[in-house]
Amino acid sequence: MQKTISIIGSGFSALSASCYLAQAGYKVSIFEKNDTAGGRARQLIKDGFTFDIGPSWYWMPDIFEKFFNDFGKSTSDYYQLDKLSPAYKIFFSDEIITIGDHMDQICEEFERIEVGSSKPLRKFIARAQEHYDIAINKVVLKPGISPFELVTKETITRVDRFFKTISSEVRKNFKNPKLISTLEFPVLFLGAKPNQTPSFYSFMNFADFGLGTWHPKGGMYEIIKAMKNLAESLGVKIHTNSNVEKINVDNGNAVGISVNGEVLQSDFVLSGADYHHSETLLDKAYRQYSESYWDKRTFAPSSLLFYVGFNKKLKNVEHHNLFFDTNFETHAEEIYDDPKWPKNPLFYVNFPSVTDKSMAPDGCETGFFLIPIAPGLEDTPELRQQYFDIIINRFEKRINQSVRENILFKESFCVNDFISEYNSYKGNAYGMANTLMQTAFLRPKLKSKKVNGLYFTGQLTVPGPGVPPSLISGKLVAELIKKNEA
Ligand SMILES: Cc1cc2nc3c(=O)[nH]c(=O)nc-3n(C[C@H](O)[C@H](O)[C@H](O)COP(=O)(O)OP(=O)(O)OC[C@H]3O[C@@H](n4cnc5c(N)ncnc54)[C@H](O)[C@@H]3O)c2cc1C
Repeated sequence: MQKTISIIGSGFSALSASCYLAQAGYKVSIFEKNDTAGGRARQLIKDGFTFDIGPSWYWMPDIFEKFFNDFGKSTSDYYQLDKLSPAYKIFFSDEIITIGDHMDQICEEFERIEVGSSKPLRKFIARAQEHYDIAINKVVLKPGISPFELVTKETITRVDRFFKTISSEVRKNFKNPKLISTLEFPVLFLGAKPNQTPSFYSFMNFADFGLGTWHPKGGMYEIIKAMKNLAESLGVKIHTNSNVEKINVDNGNAVGISVNGEVLQSDFVLSGADYHHSETLLDKAYRQYSESYWDKRTFAPSSLLFYVGFNKKLKNVEHHNLFFDTNFETHAEEIYDDPKWPKNPLFYVNFPSVTDKSMAPDGCETGFFLIPIAPGLEDTPELRQQYFDIIINRFEKRINQSVRENILFKESFCVNDFISEYNSYKGNAYGMANTLMQTAFLRPKLKSKKVNGLYFTGQLTVPGPGVPPSLISGKLVAELIKKNEA
């Protein structure tokens, strides 16, 4: 008899797990509360403009390729991938740093800012590559069950790199504050402050400078379409507009879910929804982590986002643009140490239509603005507008042109939407941070300790936040299910 499994949610991790489980012979059904699949990576199409609602940086192309290879496919069977050149631009208050698509160009740029800095940069990136090879090929593929998973001959000889921070490592080698910010930026994807992120995580710098920044033509949603297409070809049934209200347990065993008032039985249940929310779908006795456990974790930031249609092409911008023209540390404190709306926020803007004509009508620009903020902050229309005004004024100044009168429309998304759209804990955008104390076996577990046949995947469990880790999370949980429930 074919074993059945119900999966809650249709983000990257759930779609990934569904493919591996269907390939292994399980009868897989996905239940997604929203009207389209993709979770945080959904798409907004308005008046000919195409916006990715969530992720926009395509890093670690090898991980996407490996995912599709596991099914005898390649990314190129589904979407066209272009390497961005330059990768991105960073606007400081008095200078712009452009990150090229090759180490030689990046070294030249570093030399322009700080003479002699290209030598330590090459060394730093070589070490980051070493970390990448160990992390991606050895450490990250472990299910986070035991601390011994982290003990390999490669990690044991580099154990100091788990206790030193990225911040100290960067500052040891570079003095110029702009270069320091440039090198600390990639670890922000892990959701924590650079001075709380182990230096081993410099593998993100290799992902950045070594592997480059890519763009799937048509936007990040093309990856979701590809995974959905693959999952359905393997027999996965995807049900949208299907809100899961309960995980049903009988005698300590998961026996199915309740969806839109209907009880559906299955042999196993896997939740790809936010871990905290998934546990609230259980009776209290079956929850593993208390409210105070969640409250004490370091969560990755939430975000205030604007999706803006412009009726002209903008000058002086690239596909990806970081506005680091205010104090990085003060903003980080306002996210992590003393959560409040930031006084002078850093922000990020992407214009995919700069390199991909399909994303906007002719002569127009598709703009996505993101301000990272602490999760759980008050979110009102007035605050959103206040912050839009702040960043658009700075944006106009930095790019040296007026754009405000060229806005055709703007939509926003913030804490309240993360909660209502995704059942996200405190409205977090990127899940739980990867600090030393929240790494690997110290993260919430893939398998429930209290309910047999119940599993979890996604950015709050292993390996952590981001699209590539979510693909890996789906693979890890599928392997665990195959091993435990054969
Ligand atoms: C604004 C933003 C920018 C980002 N930028 C990047 C980036 O540039 N690069 C990168 O790699 N990563 C980025 N990330 C992170 C990345 O998007 C996430 O790590 C990843 O998408 C998380 O996938 P997931 O599978 O864990 O869960 P999710 O995408 O959250 O999927 C969970 C799904 O479960 C559904 N669900 C919840 N409750 C229920 C229920 N009761 N019943 C049914 N369904 C339910 C939700 O609707 C959702 O569809 C970004 C995230 C955001 C929000």
